[in-house]
Amino acid sequence: MKKIDYNKFFVPTFSRTGAALVKGKGVYLYDADGKKYLDFGTGIAVNALGHAHPALVKALTDQANKLIHTSNLYITEPHIELAKLLVENSFGKKVFLCNSGTEAIEAAIKFSRKFASRKSEKKYHILSFFNGFHGRTYGALSATAQEKFHKGFGPLLEGFHYAHLNDVKGTKKILDKHKFAAIIVEPVQGEGGIHCAETGFLRFLRDYATKNDIVLVFDEIQCGMGRTGTLWNYEQHKVIPDLMAIAKPLGGGLPLGGLICNEKVASSIEPGNHGTTFGGNPIACALGCEVLKIVSNKAFLKNVIHLGAYLQGKLQVLAEKYPIIKDVRGEGLLVGAELKTDPKEYVVKCKNKGLIVISAGSNTLRFLPPLIVTKKEIDKALSIFESCLK
Ligand SMILES: *Cc1c(COP(=O)(O)O)cnc(C)c1O
Repeated sequence: MKKIDYNKFFVPTFSRTGAALVKGKGVYLYDADGKKYLDFGTGIAVNALGHAHPALVKALTDQANKLIHTSNLYITEPHIELAKLLVENSFGKKVFLCNSGTEAIEAAIKFSRKFASRKSEKKYHILSFFNGFHGRTYGALSATAQEKFHKGFGPLLEGFHYAHLNDVKGTKKILDKHKFAAIIVEPVQGEGGIHCAETGFLRFLRDYATKNDIVLVFDEIQCGMGRTGTLWNYEQHKVIPDLMAIAKPLGGGLPLGGLICNEKVASSIEPGNHGTTFGGNPIACALGCEVLKIVSNKAFLKNVIHLGAYLQGKLQVLAEKYPIIKDVRGEGLLVGAELKTDPKEYVVKCKNKGLIVISAGSNTLRFLPPLIVTKKEIDKALSIFESCLK
């Protein structure tokens, strides 16, 4: 294939190399040179049903033939159907649909502050956690407690504070200091290196938030929608948030995000307070309905738990054999292998050998296979990974 310098035409926000990807089918991706890849990155936890899933292709083409866009000034059927499904399958009573994860977090910040403003104009502080990731726009960025994302972009929004995940004492100390509107937490930190919140810690946050009229926001953009073996990660902790941000796999590959809300917070919002032109687009919602119907199936979720344990177990075996692997952690099919070296080197090595994985944090390789992966495909991926370790 002719060499193309992709970076010639783009603001260098990403460093891309290699041939263009042209096709996908199931767990596999194909590039313009005809090279085949096992996709354990799934477009960063988006392609939960793999590539070209027949139900998604059908929903997309059917809806495209009917109606592509109307704005939120009007009602569309897929929009209502998805909202209904999300409410029926979660703690939520109302939803707000947008285009991305970062927008879902912006909505969470705005709704929380609006809700808190009825008590006091000073109750606007937001707490989030180191190594969390919530997005790139200013609100979401201000909530993302990772120095590397902030550098050069100050000043960030006022009133954002950070604590360490699973540190009850330190978190309480900060919470006691200001009037907080919201606490935002990722139950499993994805981007930041696959760090799991402990049930006891989430319970503490829930109790503190309830006692002090603080909105508890879970960011399940990466860990939700079946990724960890339950439809939502909060189910495993039996801790119910007030708001939950979702996105990544929701639109089956199309841009779609959402904020699932309880009645209390939703009722503080009035027409005109917030909005979006594209959010809840009919095609994206039609895909969302299909994804949600498939991943909420009990047998499907049970299989995710089974496959996740299988993948983690096999990585554990590799960790015993290759001391460069320091730790293996995760929940369901959201799995990380912490390395003693820069994971980026292994991302490149694996890709050259036909396996797509992504890095997380400064030292972790992230395995995010589609939820429809098989044991055989996991075996194959890990044999490629092992050949890179040798
Ligand atoms: C990806 C991600 C976001 C941001 O979502 P975008 O769709 O990229 O804006 C926010 N939170 C978490 C946990 C994420 O993984």
